[in-house]
Amino acid sequence: MAGAGKIRPAQTASETPELAAAAASNTRWAVPLIFEESVAGRSGVDLPRRQFESRPAIDLIGADLCRGALEDFPQASEPQVMRHFLRLSQLNFAQALQFYPLGSCTMKYNPVLNDECAQLPGFAALHPHTPAHLAQGALELMAKLEQALAEISGMDAISLHPAAGAQGELSGLLIIRACHMKRGQPRHKVIIPDTAHGTNPASSALAGFHVVVAKSGDRGYLEASQIARLVDDDTAALMVTNPSTLGIFEPEIREIANLLHERGAMLYLDGANMNALMGVAKPGDMGADVVQFNLHKTFSTPHGGGGPGAGPIGVKRHLEPFLATPRIVRDSDGYRLDSDRPDSIGKLRSFYGNFGMLVRAYTYILALGGDGLEQVSRRAILCANYIRERLRDHFPNATDQPVMHECVLTHDLEKKKGVSTLDIAKRLLDFGIHPPTIYFPLVVHGALMIEPTETESRQTLDDFVAAMERIYGEAMENPELLKQAPHALALRRVDEALAARRPLLRWTKP
Ligand SMILES: *Cc1c(COP(=O)(O)O)cnc(C)c1O
Repeated sequence: MAGAGKIRPAQTASETPELAAAAASNTRWAVPLIFEESVAGRSGVDLPRRQFESRPAIDLIGADLCRGALEDFPQASEPQVMRHFLRLSQLNFAQALQFYPLGSCTMKYNPVLNDECAQLPGFAALHPHTPAHLAQGALELMAKLEQALAEISGMDAISLHPAAGAQGELSGLLIIRACHMKRGQPRHKVIIPDTAHGTNPASSALAGFHVVVAKSGDRGYLEASQIARLVDDDTAALMVTNPSTLGIFEPEIREIANLLHERGAMLYLDGANMNALMGVAKPGDMGADVVQFNLHKTFSTPHGGGGPGAGPIGVKRHLEPFLATPRIVRDSDGYRLDSDRPDSIGKLRSFYGNFGMLVRAYTYILALGGDGLEQVSRRAILCANYIRERLRDHFPNATDQPVMHECVLTHDLEKKKGVSTLDIAKRLLDFGIHPPTIYFPLVVHGALMIEPTETESRQTLDDFVAAMERIYGEAMENPELLKQAPHALALRRVDEALAARRPLLRWTKP
């Protein structure tokens, strides 16, 4: 792909020959549909001559399970199939190919070592039904990962079951609900700030709560005085992301936790942004009753494309009896799985979490150690503040607060030139950069949410800054260029609303 790995901004609009050349070089990746590549009679398999007597499948499994004919099924050779899909994959932007500052998602480099560990045969081939006494190594790894996460977060007990951040949220809220019920005081409201990640209100609703929205203060953070007005005897919890989706630390979090606890409510801390806190501050010390981790963001594992995740939760002692079953316990015979827990919210998913993610996370934690994890957080924060400062002339920060691991920037190009945040994002693709998260959080007009992560070099950050400044200049001189971006990719601007609402998932013969 043009520009992959090397950021070469086009000089100005008059340099379109460069863009045209880049676009032309992309035509070799103009991949036809596999159906169009089909040649009758071609096949990817060549079975040995029959050595056994064969019987038609229909006799063996019955006509109702046999497909009659496969009309228009593509016929292709093995190399053809391989090239087809590999070429398609090369049309994607990927963290392994490009800078990928997608705010909130923490798209950072994931050490390959972690993958190698997850693929050790003793881990990768372990059947989930293996009895506990034959799976001691895996159980020990999970128990030790629980300990490490408890130490990092300052929580008392960890559950590794949830398969995503959102499922961690759901399980945490179900636990909070179960605890209030057990106390004989069922509560129905969860307070959520207007900057929240979309999964927060969704999980609350799914757990049966009524969502109360808290407006963040003028400076972008939650004010204790505001929360005091919202909390009442029907408030089950406040759910807050810290650092918030504006990338800033919630400075009044302790005060807020205290006033929640005084009213019998709890603090759910969305810990998806743990990559700004590790080794520096603990949610447990902030007064959190529940926190979730996104192992697939902070603790290695490549994520994106909806692949497997892991969203363990940590709770304070009073909530431990409610954690999902089974729990890993250790007695004189070693580790075992315990499902005899009467107050538990029950089983959350099959088996014991996405085990491969757990191996990666544990490897990552051991490889870095406590000091290394602290360095990760400090660097993530440094990189975000560097970008924020370097871009401040044309892309001012949404708040006046220093930022943590990400910054939310805005711009005046819409007003001045009719150039939207989407246009800026699309133009970044021409420079071989995956765009930041855009239009989120919703409270910032035209937001660009940039998360550089700790794994990028100063050079990459400088190239990104150069590309953004170049784009600002282009927008002032020739807004049309941006409105038609991207220019250098195989696909130009697509109608995203149409693509989402009417996806073409089935090939029909033209
Ligand atoms: C990513 C994220 C989530 C949701 O996590 P998933 O694993 O995608 O379900 C929740 N809150 C915040 C702040 C996030 O960044």
